[in-house]
Amino acid sequence: MLSVRDLGVRYANGVQALSATTLSFRPGEFTVLLGPSGAGKSTLLRCLNGLVRPTAGTVSAEGTGDIHHPGALRAHRRRTGMIFQQHQLIGRLSVLRNVLTGRLGHHSTLRTFLPAPHADRLIALDCLDRVGLLDKALARVDQLSGGQQQRVGIARAIAQRPAIVLADEPVASLDPASAEQVLDLIHGICKADGITAVVSLHQIELARRFADRLVGVCAGRVVFDGRAGELRQADLDRIYRRPPGPAAQAA
Ligand code: ADP
Repeated sequence: MLSVRDLGVRYANGVQALSATTLSFRPGEFTVLLGPSGAGKSTLLRCLNGLVRPTAGTVSAEGTGDIHHPGALRAHRRRTGMIFQQHQLIGRLSVLRNVLTGRLGHHSTLRTFLPAPHADRLIALDCLDRVGLLDKALARVDQLSGGQQQRVGIARAIAQRPAIVLADEPVASLDPASAEQVLDLIHGICKADGITAVVSLHQIELARRFADRLVGVCAGRVVFDGRAGELRQADLDRIYRRPPGPAAQAA
């Protein structure tokens, strides 16, 4: 459904952010990317929706093939919802209008200058209901708490009716209780709708709990790829580049 092959990203400043990365994301699978800051998780997520163009290798999606083929990127992005750490919402606009921006990719540029179609409003309200914020539809986004704002970000992403959701540190700026609730919400919606999800996280315990599959990234390379239950301390040491513990040294 979504795959990268021999992917490499070298930024203009010479930083090699990703090297020789080959991964396939299976339909409906909830994958969590783990790794230290600067490992390349965000670069990988941005490659998956074409925000960053790889300097080597390819990104392919079912239905469109190579997403950088002419005409493919727009179709791929329409099916791909993004959830960001800092929400990327427009604070002075209402919750509903922010969620409606998730529908823009479904219309021609000219159509987006006109008021949102009735059908889109119904979709946006339904999405707000799913994230428990229907009563806030007309509130300004900048009057909501961080956790509520992230719920608006989730509603905007699912208003796209995506086949794929990419979430870059979606709970990093939330307190532990809100982080768990928000991740539970993303996970529940993806599972209910059969959405393929790739989510980067810092919290190992949340990753273990929610992931079907864990991909550990270190210095731009995949160093672990397995089921959540297969992740051992030695794998974490490799992902986070920690020296082996005394038990491993003695062995
Ligand atoms: P992570 O999401 O795991 O923290 P990133 O993908 O953001 O890692 O970063 C990987 C490496 O690429 C880091 O060394 C970072 O400084 C560098 N990097 C990220 N974005 C850019 C950019 N736009 N230009 C140059 N270097 C970048």
